[in-house]
Amino acid sequence: MTGEPRLLVIDGKQVPAADGRTFTVVDPAHASPIAEVALAGPADVDHAVAAARAALTAPEWGRMRTADRGRLLYRIAMAIREQSDRLARLESLDVGKPLQQAKADVEAAARYFEFYAGITDKLGGTTIPLGPGLLDYTVREPIGVSGQIIPFNYPLQNTARGSAPALAAGCTVVLKPSPEAPLTPLEIAAIALDCGLPPGVLNVVPGDGDTGAALAGHPGIDQVTFTGSVATGIKVAQAAAANVVPSVVELGGKSPVVVFADADFDLALSAVAGSAFGNAGQTCSAGTRVLVQRGAEEFLDKLAAHAGSLRLGPGSSDPDVGPLVSARQRDRVRGYLELAREEGAVVRAGGGAPADPELADGYFIQPTVLTGLTNEARTAREEIFGPVVTVLEFDDLEDAVAIANDSPYGLSSYVWTRDIDKALSVAEGIKAGQVYINATGVGTGVELPFGGYKHSGWGREKGLDALASYTQTKNVCIGFGNRS
Ligand code: NAD
Repeated sequence: MTGEPRLLVIDGKQVPAADGRTFTVVDPAHASPIAEVALAGPADVDHAVAAARAALTAPEWGRMRTADRGRLLYRIAMAIREQSDRLARLESLDVGKPLQQAKADVEAAARYFEFYAGITDKLGGTTIPLGPGLLDYTVREPIGVSGQIIPFNYPLQNTARGSAPALAAGCTVVLKPSPEAPLTPLEIAAIALDCGLPPGVLNVVPGDGDTGAALAGHPGIDQVTFTGSVATGIKVAQAAAANVVPSVVELGGKSPVVVFADADFDLALSAVAGSAFGNAGQTCSAGTRVLVQRGAEEFLDKLAAHAGSLRLGPGSSDPDVGPLVSARQRDRVRGYLELAREEGAVVRAGGGAPADPELADGYFIQPTVLTGLTNEARTAREEIFGPVVTVLEFDDLEDAVAIANDSPYGLSSYVWTRDIDKALSVAEGIKAGQVYINATGVGTGVELPFGGYKHSGWGREKGLDALASYTQTKNVCIGFGNRS
């Protein structure tokens, strides 16, 4: 692919970095370069924030009728969908994900714009009854310029997940994609401009951690939405706090999947495998801590056999499992597999790089099932972010909830049983932002609030809850007539 460098999108134009720097984006299936991309530095972040601030009050955005804003977002949704094939191929090449998964991500990105398009003219306030001679009403105003920093694993979805509700609320956005996956966020910005989004409303500045730090701590930002690791999330939240602006931080997870002996094993199996091995396990909400009730060993056997049967390959060949995004990520996962052996894990499936010489250059790791560990093991507690599940056993409902909650994280959780009492008791007892009962997050994402408990973060994205991050309430109190 390569060719001319991909440029930053600032103030409605494609521009090189002020200092001319670029970085190379790599196809993770072959470790070969696919594109050069402009690397935004602090001067470019300044430029983008200034453009976003100016756009906030420019008549073509600040005074746009809310119904027109909704129609514009709807046009963006339609344009994304019309370009599904091209966007999916680009996402698959950049991140390494199987084409079918990338297509689902394009559809989710379109759905975010479609969903929030419908809310622009319904973000009303309230009136508060104070009695005769007083009229009190509230207005939900846009919070201002939203600085958004996203990770590598779902660049299309995360671009849409943050920018669509922000734009729906009337905000403007400066978005920094991951240096490991910057291509589709730039495409979304270009599509939005083609659809008529005014200049400066959505700016995209690919770069590294320094670029992210410049954005998170920028005094011209009114709100920060961050998705990524806990360590970076803490720095971003601190930078936002130093400017007294709010942040949403969507962080990591080690989500439990509780499989009772009475569960429908076939349904549970496809859901567990889809969640843990889809996107090569690089999903924050992946169910990677599988808690199996003693006596349900049949499920474990099926899971190990299924993991061993999955086909690996480049995303374009539409395999079951693609490569990890980068050598860094592959090495991190390998490190955890070594640690698991030191901790006494039994490798029931996978456990390393595939033997296939065709895959030797890419960042592939086999879908892996580990048993024989306790919840004290680091392998069972820490986020690996690869296609690796740790299976733990439990005795009864109380035991399952205790193990599930014995984690620094609290993002998603899953329970599989035919007994509604057990299912609802787990849902009540579990400390996590999402509970799925005999269901997965797949295909149900856009409408539902999403976020973490504990170290998985704070604030909510998705659904109507996300709008709280992009609006602020103004109260107006009026006295009139003969007040007593
Ligand atoms: P990361 O924390 O390394 O990077 C995330 C983003 O932050 C990148 O754009 C990066 O360039 C930027 N960044 C790095 N240092 C920064 C700094 N000092 N200041 C500001 N920005 C900085 O995460 P990653 O490896 O890209 O992604 C994996 C992590 O993301 C996992 O922990 C995963 O669970 C998490 N994640 C969470 C969710 C969620 O919704 N909760 C969704 C997807 C991924």
